[in-house]
Amino acid sequence: MPLADFQPVIGLEVHAQLLTASKIFCGCSTRFGAAPNANTCPVCLGMPGVLPVLNRKVVEFTVRTGVALGCQVRPTSIWSRKNYFYPDLPKGYQITQFDLPLCEYGELKIETLEGTRAIRIRRIHMEEDAGKSVHSGGDSLVDLNRAGVPLMEIVSDPDLRTSEEAAEYLRTLRDILVYLGVNDGNLEEGSFRCDANVSVMRKGATEYGTRAELKNINSFRFVRQAIDFEIARQVELIESGRTVAQETRLWDAVLNETRSMRAKEDAHDYRYFPEPDLPPLQVASAFVEEIRSALPELPAAKLERFQSSLGLPKKDARVLVAEKPLADYFEAVLPFVKDAKKLCNWLLGEFLRLLREEASAIATLRFTPAQLGALLTQVEGGDISASAGKEVLAEMFRTGMAPAEIIEAKGLGQLSDAGAVESVLNEVLAQFPGEIQSYRAGKTQVFGFLVGQAMKAMKGKGNPALVNALLKKKLGN
Ligand code: ADP
Ligand code: MG
Ligand code: ZN
Repeated sequence: MPLADFQPVIGLEVHAQLLTASKIFCGCSTRFGAAPNANTCPVCLGMPGVLPVLNRKVVEFTVRTGVALGCQVRPTSIWSRKNYFYPDLPKGYQITQFDLPLCEYGELKIETLEGTRAIRIRRIHMEEDAGKSVHSGGDSLVDLNRAGVPLMEIVSDPDLRTSEEAAEYLRTLRDILVYLGVNDGNLEEGSFRCDANVSVMRKGATEYGTRAELKNINSFRFVRQAIDFEIARQVELIESGRTVAQETRLWDAVLNETRSMRAKEDAHDYRYFPEPDLPPLQVASAFVEEIRSALPELPAAKLERFQSSLGLPKKDARVLVAEKPLADYFEAVLPFVKDAKKLCNWLLGEFLRLLREEASAIATLRFTPAQLGALLTQVEGGDISASAGKEVLAEMFRTGMAPAEIIEAKGLGQLSDAGAVESVLNEVLAQFPGEIQSYRAGKTQVFGFLVGQAMKAMKGKGNPALVNALLKKKLGN
């Protein structure tokens, strides 16, 4: 099996759109979905004679990411011009960082089959996005709303060895960026984009092979498929005596293959030079430390805490943590319930099901965390049955009414007062002395009959657990 003779080597470059309100070098809005070219000005249109002014928030978000990933932050970093011609790049160059990026030498810990592995982060730098060409009905149009939208490029060292590791790296990184509040983590809409660099070398070789750069990967599934396809393609080339070309390849999700797009440029092709319109960026260490001390809890820490101090199983904790709004919501309801695991069960079960069914989002729920907590407490205390609880929750989703009101209006309350249940039982038992005798003589199925009679007397509202327990006691076992 030739594949087994080779060691794949993978490095990832991630472009993450920063969640700033305005663009990186002008005041235009970054809002998605505006009319074409509505969010533009002379600066992002690339008019001659204009000057870029750096958005402080872009630096703050990049430093936040850098310190979260254990990077060193450069006190002085440099902006560079990357020259290339493209219709959606009116200036003819992109302002980016090249040889002296803002953040360097961090790491990202990922879970692999062999345990936790630290993947080195080579660099994190800031740059501006380009516009978008729109081809329709024989016309080619340019929309520059995206031109100047701030991007952060996060480059890993070639430390990944399998497509699964690459996908895990991306998932872990995406979650961290979302928790940091710097990126929305949306692969489909392209605000979190990935290029995968793939090469193979014979096992035991000391030098990496020639890499191909894979573009157009917009889902975790495609990352795995594209990398696996590429590994097999390169191995086959080498096994048949040919060589791998350094090139940029496109993942075709319809044909499930990578296709050559162009020979890969080398850095010198872009004629990078220091951007004359922006001074070197100075970042004070106090600024960095302020950001470091305000870092939020990250997914790995939350996962650990949900297990160790709340006693959630790892599987459940993972599902909660993977969606930050869900994890936040869980913590918002937690003070109003007794049992974290039961709350988790409700959230991952009925709650998510209804959320999907109503095509709703946690941010737009009609009821408060306290109200959900109150409902679960009532179920827990036996005031209503679990199935009634589900009915009430569905109604809360639809109407936003308080659980107590819904229980009252629908008559879902259970008779859970021991004294009241006991007096009903006394009346029922007085009617069936014969049945009591045969039960005591060993005809145990009579118990079910007596429960049924008691429930009937309570119009089905008796708390089943309580009715069972009290009846057993009265019958003497
Ligand atoms: P470029 O910007 O031209 O793509 P970079 O130096 O930024 O070049 O590197 C891009 C990525 O390629 C990095 O993530 C790095 O880890 C990865 N890489 C470099 N060499 C190899 C290789 N031989 N095989 C696989 N990945 C590689
Ligand atoms: Mg690249
Ligand atoms: Zn602008």
